[in-house]
Amino acid sequence: MAAPRIAIVGGGIAGASLAYMLAVERGVAPLLLEREAHCGSHATGRSAALYMPSYGPPTVRAATRASGAFYREPPAGFAAQPLLAPRGALHLALRDDPHAEPSLRALRARLQAAGSPARELDAAAVLALCPVLRPQQVLGGLLEAEALDMDVDAILQGFLRGARRAGAELHTDSAVLEARRADGRWRLRTAHASFDADIVVDAAGAWADALGALAGATPIGLQPKRRSAFLFDPPSDVAGWRDWPTLIDLAERFYVKPDAGCLLGSPANADPAEPHDVQPEEIDIASGIWAIEQATTLHIRRPRATWAGLRSFVADGEPVVGFDPNLPGWFWLAGQGGYGIQSAPGLARAAAALLLDGTLGAAWAAAGLRAEAIAPGRG
Ligand SMILES: Cc1cc2nc3c(=O)[nH]c(=O)nc-3n(C[C@H](O)[C@H](O)[C@H](O)COP(=O)(O)OP(=O)(O)OC[C@H]3O[C@@H](n4cnc5c(N)ncnc54)[C@H](O)[C@@H]3O)c2cc1C
Repeated sequence: MAAPRIAIVGGGIAGASLAYMLAVERGVAPLLLEREAHCGSHATGRSAALYMPSYGPPTVRAATRASGAFYREPPAGFAAQPLLAPRGALHLALRDDPHAEPSLRALRARLQAAGSPARELDAAAVLALCPVLRPQQVLGGLLEAEALDMDVDAILQGFLRGARRAGAELHTDSAVLEARRADGRWRLRTAHASFDADIVVDAAGAWADALGALAGATPIGLQPKRRSAFLFDPPSDVAGWRDWPTLIDLAERFYVKPDAGCLLGSPANADPAEPHDVQPEEIDIASGIWAIEQATTLHIRRPRATWAGLRSFVADGEPVVGFDPNLPGWFWLAGQGGYGIQSAPGLARAAAALLLDGTLGAAWAAAGLRAEAIAPGRG
């Protein structure tokens, strides 16, 4: 049987990783259409680049673990440098958080259940790891050594380059404006061209429901949420800051991590938004700075850069991967929330299996990934 012609809409990590898995691992080179001049301009290019296998709901965690092997040992020629680097995540129990102790207990139980090794640290050990934390604030913490930095640009470019080499056709500046089905095929129209396909993959990130609406799909109920971040200067009088783990407030008021010769801070906000080229609100940055300065002796005079991106979720927080139950030839790859980079190779392999084999197979079930848990229209 001839391979189906697959058109992927969206050139973020979701679309790029699927194009790679289809073209390189399954020998079915797809078409990839991206609205912007460069792939990765939206959520993918704005992430905090942390790989944390304990983070997210069960299917996300399974997909993240399944992605670890690919990121640790990518195929030869995928990237010139390692994709992962040691970082660690230090979950902080702070005194001004009334729920700090129960939150710490709950996290410890969750990490144990998920098989994620984490070391409990008392206040002295936390302060030894990160001496800018205010001693009067620190109750203790949990250190997750499995959390790693990702090189997101190398990952994205590796997927795109590999997919292209294996025959995938990539078109940037190609916003899909119309999606019509006739005679059992899809016709996608952009401002400059039309493309025919047997199957359309909706990997449009925060715009997934908007793209689906063009085709007459029932919405999956995607809610984009703004998360803001900023870069600031490290302290000039404290050594060793480059080796700090990511500091994560258990009450989710902030996180901080070393990044690109600076420190990256975020208020860990999740403000509902319409899909658009989102910018940070002043209040996001101010509240992130305030929370970091409450917990540490860091002084953030002026951030070097600020940005925001949209993390998009459906109601149960799990991704949506599979054929639409009512619209023939329409396949969703959306709702990756705050975990889309860390889980990309695993989810893309799962998507390729569902697209080409119609099933995930036994190996995925053993890995904790069931098609029903990620199916569009699940109950
Ligand atoms: C501040 C922040 C921190 C984060 N930190 C992490 C982290 O540490 N680890 C992690 O794993 N994840 C993290 N994430 C989440 C991660 O970035 C997302 O889950 C992931 O990037 C989603 O990828 P995507 O390809 O679905 O979406 P996107 O990257 O947004 O890509 C969708 C693409 O579709 C295109 N598109 C939309 N409509 C059309 C159309 N009609 N025609 C053509 N193209 C279209 C858009 O232009 C866009 O490029 C973070 C996100 C944010 C915002």
